[in-house]
Amino acid sequence: MKILIADKFGEDLPDKLAKYGEVVSEDMSQLKDADVLLVRSKTRPDKEFIDSAPNLKLIIRGGVGIDNIDTAYCKEKGILVHNTPSASAIAVAELVMAQMLTIQRRIVEAHNSTNAGQWEKKQLKGAEIYQKTLGLIGIGRIATEVAVRAKAFGMDIISYDPYVKTHDIARMTTLEEVLKSSDFISLHIPFTEETKDLINKETLSLMKSNVVILNTARGKVINEQDLADALKAGTIRYAAIDVYQKEPPEGSPLIGLDNILVTPHIGASTGENLQRIGQLVEKLVGELSRGELS
Ligand code: NAD
Repeated sequence: MKILIADKFGEDLPDKLAKYGEVVSEDMSQLKDADVLLVRSKTRPDKEFIDSAPNLKLIIRGGVGIDNIDTAYCKEKGILVHNTPSASAIAVAELVMAQMLTIQRRIVEAHNSTNAGQWEKKQLKGAEIYQKTLGLIGIGRIATEVAVRAKAFGMDIISYDPYVKTHDIARMTTLEEVLKSSDFISLHIPFTEETKDLINKETLSLMKSNVVILNTARGKVINEQDLADALKAGTIRYAAIDVYQKEPPEGSPLIGLDNILVTPHIGASTGENLQRIGQLVEKLVGELSRGELS
């Protein structure tokens, strides 16, 4: 069995997989002979890509969203597609907490001015997240980890998710209430026809003017131009964005604004998470080799 690791995984993964066959890393000339393909979000197996890999039996997406893979075509060709959804929740939830605290305490401004030799102790008055309302749109694995941490910080947590009726921590409510009454709105939904452009001119107009919008889900759930217009007009206070309609976000209206915290899709990028993903990948490849995977 030939295993092609197309994107960045943990450094020890090739050694762990060696017992199942030949492992090649980031050498796409090997695609035509590959039985197993490991991708994260960079490689995008579309129809043409899949057609150039006639031996392919399994694609593993190390991470959650499989929107970079043409899963319908894989099904047609009998190629199994698996992901590792349970691995990344803690890493992404910790990024969300970091985003809220960084914005409230003005850490980026404070670092830049102090590092430039200034002492802006009086000017850099911040705010707390304690007793603020956090609205979670989607309450799956990641949002639940965010809720656990936000509760420990004393936040009030509400959530909208049409597929979840009750939750241990978040009070479930309507999308309208989440939009109208949250101080922070954090998106934790998949990209689907239903969630495309969920944050747009109309939904933005319902929010409080001091709201902070956090997106660690998928870029296409926000209309970037509408959000950029609202940030520039000050009808939305701040945004923290880790994911973009196009990545890298060349030409995105969100890049370069004053009231935004931008990161390059690093939500899942922790060493610990890569280790967890590696363990799940090893398990899936082992199951394939024993004919146990479906
Ligand atoms: P999950 O499947 O556990 O949870 C998603 C939730 O969204 C579910 O509870 C579902 O019912 C809900 N949902 C679906 N449609 C909805 C709608 N129209 N309105 C409201 N809720 C809706 O997924 P997860 O593991 O929590 O991941 C959430 C998102 O985070 C995904 O888009 C995933 O791709 C993304 N993600 C990003 C990173 C990153 O690096 N930034 C890493 C991992 C995952």
